[in-house]
Amino acid sequence: QANEKESMYLVSEFAQKFFQSTLLNTDEGKAIGLSYFKERGFSQETIKKFGLGYSPETWDALTKEALDQGYKLEYLEKVGLTIVREDGGHLDRFKGRVMFPIQSMSGRVLGFGGRILTNEKKAAKYLNSPESDIYHKSKVLYGIYHAKQAIAKQDNCYLCEGYTDVIQMHQAGIESVVSSSGTALTTDQIRLINRLTKNITVLFDGDAAGLRASIRGIDLILEEGMNVKVCTFPDGEDPDSFARKTPYDELLRYLNENAMDFIQFKASLLMKEAKNDPIKKADLIRDMVSSISKIPDRIKREIYIQECSRIMDISEEVLFNTLAQLLQKDI
Ligand code: ATP
Ligand code: MN
Ligand code: MN
Ligand code: MN
Repeated sequence: QANEKESMYLVSEFAQKFFQSTLLNTDEGKAIGLSYFKERGFSQETIKKFGLGYSPETWDALTKEALDQGYKLEYLEKVGLTIVREDGGHLDRFKGRVMFPIQSMSGRVLGFGGRILTNEKKAAKYLNSPESDIYHKSKVLYGIYHAKQAIAKQDNCYLCEGYTDVIQMHQAGIESVVSSSGTALTTDQIRLINRLTKNITVLFDGDAAGLRASIRGIDLILEEGMNVKVCTFPDGEDPDSFARKTPYDELLRYLNENAMDFIQFKASLLMKEAKNDPIKKADLIRDMVSSISKIPDRIKREIYIQECSRIMDISEEVLFNTLAQLLQKDI
């Protein structure tokens, strides 16, 4: 069993090297993959640091090379790099995509994200390695290996949605950043961060999907007893596009000035959505108290109730009653 997992790690590490050398040293890799990354503004240094690569268009380039080098088809298939067809033929899962290796806290390659290069809507934009004995999507955070020291040092973790957000923020000089990449945020992922810091700043995309994802994430983070802030971006921007065009000092200032405590974040949502609609306002206040009810620490709950009362201009008594009802329900 242990040997089997080790074989899966080894073949994944081989694939990472193969994809990277294809990107940097072949005509196809340079013309298609490297020029794509350059267009996105990734430097050579960044490309190497994150081990980015390119998977050739040929249908079995990686599989063939790995088999030639003595890696077993069994393990290529187990980690999902090779798809074995019913007739016994095999093909590369990621052919024709640029590759983002996903690393563990200690730097081992667990799996890959592969991005399509064309803008045609026929195939999924990102394809991920399937679940395997070494890759459990819900327990992994993209970028954690490169971010862990900065997270501990700064005692804060920026949490975004995608691979390119992590990479672009790093290149811009902000290294305490990870992403859940392709899955809704999970408690296991939050616990990985919890080992390094109690403070998370959520940086989700400035669109409806990003907003929804941040709202869902907030309660999960609060349930772990951690502190959560939210920093939103202008509509249509994500941390990648924003960091790319913003100089370091300004970026840092933007993040500091716009990071709201979760309670302010929810209140500002209310301003936008409910305006003078009392029913919507009531729903949102219940929503805020429901988030507060997730906080395990009683003193913190009280402080947030007071804060909520002040911001929403509603009596603490009513809020405490609502809170008590919600806490009762949980028992
Ligand atoms: P890009 O800037 O390269 O277009 P992005 O990271 O901004 O990508 P989003 O559309 O904001 O992409 O999605 C956020 C994350 O969700 C992606 O980084 C990826 O991990 C995941 N994702 C997006 N589209 C898909 C998809 N079709 N299948 C699986 N995962 C996806
Ligand atoms: Mn998005
Ligand atoms: Mn995005
Ligand atoms: Mn993007």
